[in-house]
Amino acid sequence: MRDLLPKDAEMMRHVEQVSREVSKLYGYDEIITPILESYELLAAKTSEEIRERMYTFKDLGDRKVALRPEFTASIARLVANKLKNEPKPMRLFSVGSLYRYDEPQYGRFREFWQSNYELFGSARPEADAEILTLTNNLLKKLGLKNYRFKIGHTGILRGILTQERLNDEKQNSVRQLLDKKLWTEALAVAREAGVSQKCLTTLESLLETKGENAFQVLAQLRDNVQDYETTLAAVDNLWTILELIKDSKEQLEVLVEAGFARGLEYYTGMIFESYVPGLNIALGGGGRYDKLIQLFGGEPIPAVGVAQGIDRIVLALTKQEVSPKNAKERSVVVISVKDESMAKALELSAMLRNKGLPVEVAVMGRSISRALADADRRGAAYAVIVGPKELKEEKVVLREMKKSTQRTVPISSLTEEILAGST
Ligand code: AMP
Repeated sequence: MRDLLPKDAEMMRHVEQVSREVSKLYGYDEIITPILESYELLAAKTSEEIRERMYTFKDLGDRKVALRPEFTASIARLVANKLKNEPKPMRLFSVGSLYRYDEPQYGRFREFWQSNYELFGSARPEADAEILTLTNNLLKKLGLKNYRFKIGHTGILRGILTQERLNDEKQNSVRQLLDKKLWTEALAVAREAGVSQKCLTTLESLLETKGENAFQVLAQLRDNVQDYETTLAAVDNLWTILELIKDSKEQLEVLVEAGFARGLEYYTGMIFESYVPGLNIALGGGGRYDKLIQLFGGEPIPAVGVAQGIDRIVLALTKQEVSPKNAKERSVVVISVKDESMAKALELSAMLRNKGLPVEVAVMGRSISRALADADRRGAAYAVIVGPKELKEEKVVLREMKKSTQRTVPISSLTEEILAGST
């Protein structure tokens, strides 16, 4: 777990803020759920892999609890209970920290942030398309370049393995191995489970069926899986989703991968991850999970959602040297020349802040030249120098830091001078 120093904290908050703006643009209402949940709730609904990595302990009431490793379980709990009578569709947004005892490495932390968008109530392809285009627009709004989507469909594998009568447990092992790109091992599990030779050949061909020309890949896939009816339906579903996006003129760079699997077991339809080539980590991921709410004892409610990895988006933005618009653009340092002018300096600081200008007061009692050097180091755009001589005429000195020029201005027009400034 990391300490986030000012630059990192600023970037994390920036991505959080843009995530929230996007939630408003698409009509997702924020909900805030606890960081601590009952162990049973979290354990029952997540994948084995995440279950093993939860931070778990007993509270003073002898209840087994855990730090949330993802949002979806908590949200599904609400949707199955407190929110069950809300009209559909229901669009929910959440953002905050999650905890997994992962091996720390580049882009993998034990405490990390996600912004999460879930759309409940629609099983239709336009809902899947919305989650994909929303993610596209979030990354675009953040100024990230060259990002892409890896897209697949859980029904492709599931259709084949179910027709071959593999139980859920075996299917999950195959999927998890595929998620880790352990293809030989995944095929070995299928072989041991007694699948037909035709199935093994089909699975092998699936692993090769991928590419950036989505409709070409999907057409090839249709040929390869002809004998598996539900798999064909999955391919058609993915086709419809991608066609809808294309026809709506949304620019989405995709890589369709037939053998793509995501670790979480609850997905039932389209699945995807966003990434930037060259940075070998997923920035976010999501998909359709139509059966999860049932697991919580609720009515079956179709759902599709995405979790954006805020830490990783920050890593990608930093690597591409994209930073938020400089907040210091009109920042001001107010320096009092003498102790006797300090109260006035504080009063003027308050006046400027009331107009929305960020102000730092020089509090170290330094000489003017050292205080100005410090203001420069801090990236301030303006210094306001408050001295008894100018105060006698209700004036102060306004210095434009970048230009190293200064002039005496009446206090009555100080705010306007700064707001109108060219810096
Ligand atoms: P998941 O909930 O596993 O589907 O992950 C969704 C997104 O959360 C991933 O694409 C990552 O961006 C992010 N994420 C997951 N685990 C971690 C982690 N340990 N550290 C940082 N980001 C993570």
